[in-house]
Amino acid sequence: MAINEPLELEAPSQAVLQNMEESEHEEVLFCFDKASGLRAIIAIHNTCLGAALGGVRMWPYESEAAALADVLRLSRGMTYKAAVSGLNLGGGKAVIIGDPRRHKTEHLLRRFGQFVHDLGGKYITAEDVGMTSRDMEFIRMSTPYVSGLPTHLGGSGNPSPFTAFGVYMGMKAAAKKVFGSDSLENKKIVVQGCGSVGQNLVGLLAKENARIWVTDIYEDKIKEVTSEYPSVQVSDPEEIYDMDMDIYAPCALGGTLNDLTIPRLKCSIVAGAANNQLLNEELHSRELMEKGIVYAPDFLINAGGLINVYNEYQGNYNRERAMEQTRHIYDLTLEILNTASQNGQTPLAAAKARAEARLKTAAQLKIPFTRA
Ligand code: NAD
Repeated sequence: MAINEPLELEAPSQAVLQNMEESEHEEVLFCFDKASGLRAIIAIHNTCLGAALGGVRMWPYESEAAALADVLRLSRGMTYKAAVSGLNLGGGKAVIIGDPRRHKTEHLLRRFGQFVHDLGGKYITAEDVGMTSRDMEFIRMSTPYVSGLPTHLGGSGNPSPFTAFGVYMGMKAAAKKVFGSDSLENKKIVVQGCGSVGQNLVGLLAKENARIWVTDIYEDKIKEVTSEYPSVQVSDPEEIYDMDMDIYAPCALGGTLNDLTIPRLKCSIVAGAANNQLLNEELHSRELMEKGIVYAPDFLINAGGLINVYNEYQGNYNRERAMEQTRHIYDLTLEILNTASQNGQTPLAAAKARAEARLKTAAQLKIPFTRA
């Protein structure tokens, strides 16, 4: 191309800005490094309440567009999660395109950390799907802007037990609303995804003598659960949507509540850890309500991990305090479910309204995030 030839904007870059405008994102950073094979996107949605803290996910996305769509949705969800939980944090998220079982290397993680560092603390990374606290250690070699470090580095360790505990609290609150009692004893619960959160959740449900079914796309993940909890039963990943159950707990990936699955669902409650469970928030939250299924909003009940890494990020970490704050998810969920039914709203709408009211106040204070 001649040097004075006008640059033509390609369709994908127009789409990125258009997407950012629609979802009100502040900043999106595309990261590429040939030597390590890193291909990543960091999305900062909103920093009205503070630095954007959110995990980094590694997943073999089918396309860049799919990765972008995911990171935009996830980072926006983090804004709502922090706001509704009363944390002084903004919303951000990162995705690394690749198979964590094959493409994850120290080189790639450290290079990713350098990109995080360049943002000067506006984005703080943490663990998400496909990542471990050991991986956070490598990222920490490049930047201090990481939370959820292993305990031997002064961190709070794996946030998943906190996330699972918060989901458990939210599930119990939903049970209180639907069944009149928050006991999960003998309730038939299907846990989709036997990863870090799913496994911890199964442990909590087993202690309460729930009847538990699990599913995963990897045999080894299922074995990890069934060897520890022999009473747990196993289902095929596709068959779970047709099962008679009391509670469906999505703890794998997002978008599992959609046009194809909702008509098949036979449960009273949806309460799980996965982010962005509703493929279309507006439409699918309404369809669940019309079917008489109580949906405990994902960003409300899966905030335990964020609460924990926020405590670590603030300093003077105290595990009991983080657990106590996570326990509060029970009261908050019950309050939001009650508000929703009083107003004839979906629980999602009630939770979003609460988060948006806080964001509006913060925006009016006009304290923009400043880089270190
Ligand atoms: P993980 O990677 O440890 O586990 C996810 C599991 O889901 C894996 O075992 C995977 O094989 C399985 N899976 C993927 N697709 C599946 C399918 N179609 N059917 C059945 N199983 C499938 O992740 P995690 O840390 O346990 O997180 C689970 C979910 O919770 C994610 O959506 C994550 O974003 C969300 N979340 C996690 C945390 C946290 O603290 N880890 C916090 C908030 C939200």
